[in-house]
Amino acid sequence: MRYSEDILNEVKENNDIVEVISQYVHLKRSGRNYFGICPFHNEKSPSFSVSPDKQIFHCFGCGVGGNVISFISKIEGIGFKEAIETLAERANISLPVNTSQEDSKLEELKSKVFKVNSFTADYYHKRLYDSKSKIGQEYVKKRKLTNDTLEAYNLGFSGNFDELYQVLRKEGFNDEEILESGLVNKNDNGKYIDRYRNRFMIPILDVRNRVIAFGGRVIDDSKPKYINSPENIVYSKGKHLFGLNVAKKGDTKKLLIVEGYMDAISLHQRGITNVVASLGTALTTNQGWLLRKNAEEVILGFDSDGAGQTAIIRAMEVMQNMGCDMRVLQMTGAKDPDEYIIK
Ligand SMILES: [Zn+2]
Repeated sequence: MRYSEDILNEVKENNDIVEVISQYVHLKRSGRNYFGICPFHNEKSPSFSVSPDKQIFHCFGCGVGGNVISFISKIEGIGFKEAIETLAERANISLPVNTSQEDSKLEELKSKVFKVNSFTADYYHKRLYDSKSKIGQEYVKKRKLTNDTLEAYNLGFSGNFDELYQVLRKEGFNDEEILESGLVNKNDNGKYIDRYRNRFMIPILDVRNRVIAFGGRVIDDSKPKYINSPENIVYSKGKHLFGLNVAKKGDTKKLLIVEGYMDAISLHQRGITNVVASLGTALTTNQGWLLRKNAEEVILGFDSDGAGQTAIIRAMEVMQNMGCDMRVLQMTGAKDPDEYIIK
């Protein structure tokens, strides 16, 4: 059985090459890359290099090179498939054990869910400008969100009852695909109802610009203030950073990480475009490596309350050994956070 492209990517994304190779080779950072003594030929001065940006290794002495999977395959003397399995185990990724027929069925469902998500993000975005979305537009005005911001993040507004469900059915998606997306629920009476009703909608994209989940904020004082997508075949919590796809359009040498997506969005609007959000959860190792891969310096912009301080300590623990400079932004102390971050 061959593993799918998605599985290969997941294995690679969750096994940072620097972290993996460091277990075999003593690596020293020099600029953007790491160097060490090549484990594949005899040498005295280090010509073996590892690039965290490209997630590849290369030896200038013997010419060997490749990605994290081929490194493991070479150094452990095992096949490509076994190397994938080794790395999957290391990152706690469960590999599919299904027959290949079921495999491709799952892949197909996955790609449909991505399509449902992407269609829905565009639908909500268009709907925000509709006369039906007066309350949504008032919220936009109140938050002083500009058109550029609405476009940059494809922000939107959701409808009532089963509006989205009906639209998705009309678009040709079936119930299995719609339910798997988590955008619609089926109640005890067998009725379909949209998860997000009358909410300001924030699509969450991965680094490959695919819509993986949504956040929905109320526009009044009702509870809960935020609803998020459940985990499903395209979304696992703690593996993504909100806004990284947008931030990557600009310079991300320094990356500011904040807690909530609305914080990230309003900072972006104020010109601080190198900003991502941790999506509420405490920073995970996956998110740490994602930051490391994309930035030389990470600035922690968590709230200065008790929970925020705990989040800062946790983030520092996670990032301690990743060879990444870190600063803590004192939100309360700084006179002008905008300037502080930009310079
Ligand atoms: Zn070599």
